[in-house]
Amino acid sequence: PFDVLVVGGGPAGAAAAVYAARKGIRTGVVSERFGGQVLDTMAIENFISVPETEGPKMAAALEQHVRQYEVDIMDMQRAERLLPAGEDGLVGLELASGAALKAKTVVLSTGARWRTMDVPGEAEYRNRGVAYCPHCDGPLFKGKRVAVIGGGNSGVEAAIDLAGIVRHVTLLEFDGRLRADEVLQRKLRSLGNVEVVTSAQTTEVAGDGSRVTALVYTDRIGGDSHRLELDGVFVQIGLLPNTEWLRGTVELSPRGEVVTDGSGRTSLPGVFAAGDCTTVPYKQIVIAMGEGSRAALSAFDHLIRSSAP
Ligand code: FAD
Repeated sequence: PFDVLVVGGGPAGAAAAVYAARKGIRTGVVSERFGGQVLDTMAIENFISVPETEGPKMAAALEQHVRQYEVDIMDMQRAERLLPAGEDGLVGLELASGAALKAKTVVLSTGARWRTMDVPGEAEYRNRGVAYCPHCDGPLFKGKRVAVIGGGNSGVEAAIDLAGIVRHVTLLEFDGRLRADEVLQRKLRSLGNVEVVTSAQTTEVAGDGSRVTALVYTDRIGGDSHRLELDGVFVQIGLLPNTEWLRGTVELSPRGEVVTDGSGRTSLPGVFAAGDCTTVPYKQIVIAMGEGSRAALSAFDHLIRSSAP
């Protein structure tokens, strides 16, 4: 069996694998797509000590770093079932391929995915005006006009955040009213360069072939279509953790995030979690790596305290 079996090969999983392998213990990584969300990212400007890099470059570096150690990387493998430790003290992991793995400890780091609007132009202009993370991409729109889609807490927080950087923000909400906390809505209304449009259904992200130039939405009450000329669209309609396969085995929050304590422990003994799939707030690369490292150290601590040989 593995001493530490990491599920997920994004920043959290890579960090967990490096930290575990450096203890000289048997370490494996199962990943559907090694690199994770970083593969879908263009400019990364907030990975501290690296002023600028690109997603695919960082993903390659993650893999290279893990491969410096004796880590069994099982890429393009999807985990489908986690089996809590039985009498043998080993946690089981079943893969879509039919393979069954055993481990003394498991680190869950399957990340998350942004909910998309699924309108024409959204996928085409991703990273070319369509963005999902204000902390990551906000500064790229300095002095420009943007829209934020979604009037929940994350949308309103994004609009407030962006209003301090960009020239103008239009917040579009599908519903008749915003769902964000009242204190956030009050803050939003106090800002001079933010406009709020409710009952608005986005129908298209338009561009000139290389970048976003406009957003088209329908007024759900009047039925007429409007076009906003702008440079960026921040989609804030939810971040979905990749934890559907864990339902019923490990404790999840109402949003489906794996509930962890301050050391990365989950509700199951020997099972740890890190990164975007957990309840830890602020989904960022630097945070995922820190959490992955911590989860691996917690797993190691668990190993040296457990009686299993
Ligand atoms: P992920 O990166 O999501 O990795 C999850 C891993 O788990 C992947 O390998 C995936 O294939 C695997 N996996 C999922 N389900 C299974 C399964 N069932 N079985 C096996 N493997 C599975 N953050 C920043 O700090 N700066 C930025 O500039 C930045 N820009 C971003 C731009 C975009 C477009 C996006 C989408 C995200 C951006 N982020 C940025 C956020 C950052 O990418 C994430 O916070 C970070 O990647 C989270 O790391 P993670 O390891 O927790 O999860």
